[in-house]
Amino acid sequence: MVIADQKVVSIHYRLSNDDGQIIQESASGAPLSYVHGAGNIIPGLESALSGKTAGDKLNVSVDPEQGYGARNDALIQELPRDVFEGVEDIQEGMQLQAHSEQGTQVITVTKVDGERVTVDGNHPLAGQTLNFEVEVDSVRDATAEEIAHGHVHKEE
Ligand code: ZN
Repeated sequence: MVIADQKVVSIHYRLSNDDGQIIQESASGAPLSYVHGAGNIIPGLESALSGKTAGDKLNVSVDPEQGYGARNDALIQELPRDVFEGVEDIQEGMQLQAHSEQGTQVITVTKVDGERVTVDGNHPLAGQTLNFEVEVDSVRDATAEEIAHGHVHKEE
């Protein structure tokens, strides 16, 4: 079966940056499953997988525009510590969830200076070229419910 829209695709993958550092990988024996064409994975990887079949191996280099976007300096903000009411101990490197009209966003605390806290709303992988080594594990038809929901349902 060929990978196309409305197929459930399972892949093993390893993601590394341009320095060869491994950023993420699927656990052995537990591939990542997604609904093709539903925007579950980054566009550059999804389009590279179109037309492939189970057993295919590919190396894909994804530019930031087809990945997590360019870094946007406007997403870096300095805020008073009061804003983080309820967070016990604000530290550099902490990741927090921020809720806004645009939905839930992960922000990273990049600096704590007394009462001033600097946060960065960029995706941690924004601005990076992403190098994927991928092996297609399986391809099946998505169920009507999976297509309606736009995500994979676990098989029993
Ligand atoms: Zn669902």
